Amino acid sequence: MSVLVYTENWDGKFKKLSFELVSYATGVAKMLNTQVTAISIGKVDNDELNKLGNYGASKIISINNEKLAALDNQAYSSVIAEVAIKENTTVIVISNNNSGKAIAPRLSVRLKAGVGSGVSRLPLSVNPFVVYKRTYSGNAFAHQAIKSDVKIITLAQNSFDLIENKVNPVIENFDPVVDASLLKTVIKDVQKQTGKILLTDADIVVSGGRGMKSADNWAPLVELASLLGAATACSRPVSDEGWRPHEEHTGQTGKIIAPNLYIAVGISGATQHLAGISSSKFIVAINSDKDAPIFEAAQYGIVGDAMKVLPKLVEAVKEIRK
Ligand SMILES: Cc1cc2nc3c(=O)[nH]c(=O)nc-3n(C[C@H](O)[C@H](O)[C@H](O)COP(=O)(O)OP(=O)(O)OC[C@H]3O[C@@H](n4cnc5c(N)ncnc54)[C@H](O)[C@@H]3O)c2cc1C
Repeated sequence: MSVLVYTENWDGKFKKLSFELVSYATGVAKMLNTQVTAISIGKVDNDELNKLGNYGASKIISINNEKLAALDNQAYSSVIAEVAIKENTTVIVISNNNSGKAIAPRLSVRLKAGVGSGVSRLPLSVNPFVVYKRTYSGNAFAHQAIKSDVKIITLAQNSFDLIENKVNPVIENFDPVVDASLLKTVIKDVQKQTGKILLTDADIVVSGGRGMKSADNWAPLVELASLLGAATACSRPVSDEGWRPHEEHTGQTGKIIAPNLYIAVGISGATQHLAGISSSKFIVAINSDKDAPIFEAAQYGIVGDAMKVLPKLVEAVKEIRK
């Protein structure tokens, strides 16, 4: 019996997301009185693999097969299922990100496993196995019992703290037979964004809504973000209007984030927006309407015109930085 966690790497490096998953898997393993095995697919060196041991992975199965160099959900789920059976796994932990959402249902069919998706806390109990998840755009929560022998949990991003739990992991290289008929994705070109702080990794996020009025008004918001070492984000109407790129849109239908500080500028605070940001540690709202719902979610607020407040904030941060 073991808990298996699928860890993603980017160009051979793990990010916070994978350490968060291992921390969570370690918590589940403790409840089940068992060990955590991490699975890593792709070319990752041993120094990097060992980092998973800092969060409690006592065994790491590393699969470095040319055929699996690019993410292919069908092939990856087949390989993860093979490892799960080999390791006599009872619980599989995966991120609730795009690849996790594609892999989990395929794994579920292969292993006849029930799925708890978008889970945000450790299980409430393991016998029966009951997970906790937020539902209805974060306005309610659900307790979901998973009754199958093998259980799959997809963990909501940024919902679980990193917990150091240092062990010296055993690294095992595994070379599965990859069924060529499953490899259906061909990546022809990869274009990388450089120098940008990833929204899902950011500690501070400065986000703009329709109150910013036009794409031309974004300069002070971007400058504030750059001074604070923050990522930029936006509400959905802003990306629908094409004022900002779609990858910046947060909320029910966008990215779900939980930074330490979320600065919401000209955002009303609709429930669909709050669904993506309400786990932020501190929310600061800047809005010209003192009755805007965002002030109910925020710990700090400034009632004022964003076009006047933002330049003053930029100057204040520059002054502090002198
Ligand atoms: C199924 C569904 C899914 C959705 N998913 C999402 C989602 O994922 N993310 C999301 O964001 N929305 C989502 N929405 C849309 C959501 O309901 C809201 O319409 C949206 O969040 C509003 O965006 P906003 O706050 O930027 O704009 P508005 O609601 O127009 O609010 C603008 C705010 O700016 C303030 N303001 C105006 N001028 C200024 C100024 N000069 N200075 C300061 N403040 C000013 C106003 O007082 C107001 O509070 C979804 C809707 C549906 C139906």
